[in-house]
Amino acid sequence: MPYAHGLKPGDVLDNDKLTQLFKCGNAGGMRRSKETNSLVLISDHTKSLYDDRWDGDICHYTGMGQVGDQDINYMQNRTLAESTTNGVDVYLFEVFKPNQYIYRGPVKLAGRPYTERQLDREKNLRTVWVFPVQLLGNNKQPTVTVDELEDKQAHREKQARNLSDAELAKRAKSSGSKAGTRRVSTTVYERNEFIAEYAKRCAKGICQLCDQPAPFSKNGVPFLEVHHIEWLSRGGEDTVENTVALCPNCHRKMHILDLPADIQKLKSRARSNAQTLE
Ligand SMILES: [Zn+2]
Ligand SMILES: [Zn+2]
Repeated sequence: MPYAHGLKPGDVLDNDKLTQLFKCGNAGGMRRSKETNSLVLISDHTKSLYDDRWDGDICHYTGMGQVGDQDINYMQNRTLAESTTNGVDVYLFEVFKPNQYIYRGPVKLAGRPYTERQLDREKNLRTVWVFPVQLLGNNKQPTVTVDELEDKQAHREKQARNLSDAELAKRAKSSGSKAGTRRVSTTVYERNEFIAEYAKRCAKGICQLCDQPAPFSKNGVPFLEVHHIEWLSRGGEDTVENTVALCPNCHRKMHILDLPADIQKLKSRARSNAQTLE
């Protein structure tokens, strides 16, 4: 296994530290260091609208060159293409938040580089080189947290919103048809089913925020969702006093806006729920 300067997968470095350890340049996605005979690949999800894509345990890494057709023999594209024979150690970092470089581990080329059509920075369709790489060792795709994924998604959605209609149409139509996949680690709260059922029964098929009937029924039961006024993920309690039943619209609203006036209303509803079924 190549020497990774004492780093463990998951370690987070800032740009200065990364540059110091690997003795590489401080900008760009592919950073060669002659001194440490290494090539650092940075998969920066905050940077561009086209993105390196994971599929199973393979990261499909887009090569160097921001404008015009990319050349497989250009600088570090060549280093990576020849990395099975040139003795250069290759390492992968991922970025979900500016200046937080998450170390993933040493990687190797896992197949032949191939070309893809993508828009460049000046919005012209061009050819890029894509390098399938895989982590050494257990070969598994690193898991990301829901937060990391949401940061990335929010950032990219903002970029998409800022495009003109014409640019958006161009990008939407030239995007690859294959969706990437990520392994996500998440914490799931096991809610008490008696408390959930209690809230629903008190609501009697009427949303406790907008006071409208549930929009549809499932198996003859009006469909409402159970919501914790103070979210479980923020330390809220799984109790009758903290639980209401909402229509799907209002439930989304609470998770997206969580307005103080709505919270107040739901708190008083939950308090009366607590007295309803006695
Ligand atoms: Zn509602
Ligand atoms: Zn909820």
